[in-house]
Amino acid sequence: MIGENFYDCNCGRNGCFETLASATAMIKYALHKMNTSDAVSSLQRIYIEKGQLEAKDIFDHAAMGDALAIETVNRTAKYLAIGIANIYNILDPEIIAIGGGVSKAGDSFFDLVRNMVGKMTIV
Ligand SMILES: [Zn+2]
Repeated sequence: MIGENFYDCNCGRNGCFETLASATAMIKYALHKMNTSDAVSSLQRIYIEKGQLEAKDIFDHAAMGDALAIETVNRTAKYLAIGIANIYNILDPEIIAIGGGVSKAGDSFFDLVRNMVGKMTIV
């Protein structure tokens, strides 16, 4: 478990890694923020047009400067960095492989995550 979250994991607990740092988590968070705040986001138009959001939409709109998309990407990077830093600090692995939808995020996202992990690790 990484932190408190606004929805429970499929396993029944709250705050599991995948519910805070995954493509699904990003989409749920962006939709949650759109539904529970007055924030205006270009993601709302995408959601209305396509009937769904994809992680790629969020990364693309963050790159275009959309505040909600940027907040969602930064939140995902933070929790991914916390999870990776925890693994590093306990196990000191040589490699950590990232799979799933977030793995397609691109260099700017992983540069952000690497930077955060660097500040959280002991070594
Ligand atoms: Zn879980």
